[in-house]
Amino acid sequence: MPIEPVETIWVNGELVAWEDAKIHVLSHALHYGTGVFEGIRAYETERGPAVFRLTDHLERMRTSARIFLMELPYTTAQLRDAVHELIRANRLRSCYIRPLAFRGFGGEMGVNPERNPIDVVIAVWRWGRYLGDDALRRGIRATISSWRRQDPNIIPPSAKATGAYVNASMAKLEAVHAGYDEAIMLNPAGFVAEASGENVFIVRDGVLLTPPLAAGPLPGITRASIIDIAGDEGIPVAERDLTRADLYTAEEMFLVGTAAEVTPVREVDERVIGDPGPVTLALQQRFFDIVQGRDGKFSEWLDVVA
Ligand code: PMP
Repeated sequence: MPIEPVETIWVNGELVAWEDAKIHVLSHALHYGTGVFEGIRAYETERGPAVFRLTDHLERMRTSARIFLMELPYTTAQLRDAVHELIRANRLRSCYIRPLAFRGFGGEMGVNPERNPIDVVIAVWRWGRYLGDDALRRGIRATISSWRRQDPNIIPPSAKATGAYVNASMAKLEAVHAGYDEAIMLNPAGFVAEASGENVFIVRDGVLLTPPLAAGPLPGITRASIIDIAGDEGIPVAERDLTRADLYTAEEMFLVGTAAEVTPVREVDERVIGDPGPVTLALQQRFFDIVQGRDGKFSEWLDVVA
């Protein structure tokens, strides 16, 4: 999806003009993938732009950094203020927010990252539907990838690390080239982990099922929110290992994530699930009511930009 430039990007504590936010070609992260990042959305609400679970996202970035022995040079409160300042400076009513902390250029080359500074940037831009405008209404076609989600002892999948996304990219490329919208990745043990950039839910006998975190998905913030919303709706939820056949025979299936929001899946590898079902539609509706500030139940999830 094309990025439409805005005026400024936050770079190491300063607001820098969009076109000047550049890095050195010998930055460590560019060569070795040594960065951690987040994807966050701010929604337009009656009270102003509301960032969905901003602190939770920034805390997850700190956790990702910790796994890679990176100490973020800003507190969560400072990063939260930076996000607010940036949205105000760019006069955005809704946007996608991309914080990134990476090993920059410290004058040396080699896989040990420690001689390189930790640079932190935050960019915001206007963004529509990640999987296309029809996806939310009609659902998408997914395929089981031939690429496995990486083992936790190769690169921890619980950390949102830039380098790890080579794995997701390979799966996405394969799926798109085969004519599908999205790739579902199995873990090394053969159970469903997640999609290339979303967590997976299915419905079976009226129960909402999703792979446990031990199966190796990213601990998605939308995933956690959907589990809470389902609880509030009285929909039973269980975290359980799922096989590809569980997806092929699901009564309903959907993917969740900051970018994809709540996207129904209508088919997996030619096994037709069909139009979005009642559980999917109820959770999708409730999700949008909450993020757009129409439903006060989980109002603590909205961080309104003054
Ligand atoms: N899995 C992967 C691999 C992702 O990249 C994302 C997007 N961050 C998700 C799941 C969904 O996570 P969240 O709901 O926190 O955006």
